[in-house]
Amino acid sequence: MLKPDAVKRRLAGEVIGRFEKRGLKILAAKMMVINKELAETHYGEHAEKPFFKDLVDYITSGPVLATVIEGEECISMIRKMVGATNPQEADMGTIRGDYAIDTGRNIIHASDAPDSAKREISLFFDESEICEYVLPDEELIYEEP
Ligand code: GDP
Ligand code: MG
Repeated sequence: MLKPDAVKRRLAGEVIGRFEKRGLKILAAKMMVINKELAETHYGEHAEKPFFKDLVDYITSGPVLATVIEGEECISMIRKMVGATNPQEADMGTIRGDYAIDTGRNIIHASDAPDSAKREISLFFDESEICEYVLPDEELIYEEP
């Protein structure tokens, strides 16, 4: 999910482009302004953290671009492409390392495990909004498509 800072800084296309160029498949994408309840549910694991209120205020402060992205090992691959939570600790070449400075304005959320991905996808999308299709160049991306 591209956070409001990414959308407002016109970085959404740039970031999505990185995933596309890597060979990943975009199954869904939706601009939305998240309400407080959805934000609190999405970030429920952080409810007791001191930054929780700021996090919810930030993620509800403008439009996000929610996406569903598919590919082999794509959760760990995308987390590597995203970089460390604190952009100042993120490697250059990662999304946060290249475009962000503050932990509280770090551009993008990425699911951290298959279970959380499943849970988060169901919070943001109906099944009917998720497109299944074949990429014509799959044999150029995968040895065994
Ligand atoms: P992520 O999985 O790398 O996004 O990091 P976490 O799941 O640990 O935290 C969720 C989000 O909360 C992060 O992306 C940050 O936007 C925010 N966050 C995490 N730790 C801090 C913190 O120490 N201070 C502030 N202000 N925000 C934080
Ligand atoms: Mg997280």
